[in-house]
Amino acid sequence: MNRYKMKINTAWLERKRGSLIKELANIGPFVDGSIAKVKRRCGNKNCKCYLKGEKHESYYLMYKEKGVTKAVYIPVDMEEEVREWNDNYKKLKEIVAEITKANKEIIRRYVKEKKLKKGRG
Ligand SMILES: [Zn+2]
Repeated sequence: MNRYKMKINTAWLERKRGSLIKELANIGPFVDGSIAKVKRRCGNKNCKCYLKGEKHESYYLMYKEKGVTKAVYIPVDMEEEVREWNDNYKKLKEIVAEITKANKEIIRRYVKEKKLKKGRG
């Protein structure tokens, strides 16, 4: 922790921010929300879910729009892909948070480092 603190300066933060922005550019498709497993009956009276009581397992992407929870059915063929997009979204949010943190630290250090450069520190 101490070593980490000692190493930090604006130049270091800017380098870190630069590599984070590159990561951001390479992140690929993303989608927000969370994936939920839902068990349901399809309504077909000849189906095993009706005859044997075995419910179908489906996945839905749950998300909020203006505070209202919504769900979109994920077709079986798309499950893996949507999971990847959703993971990318989480990664995106982490990177955005790190860039934001670095920028706040840059703002915080501005005056102090300017004084140091003038030899007043
Ligand atoms: Zn069924």
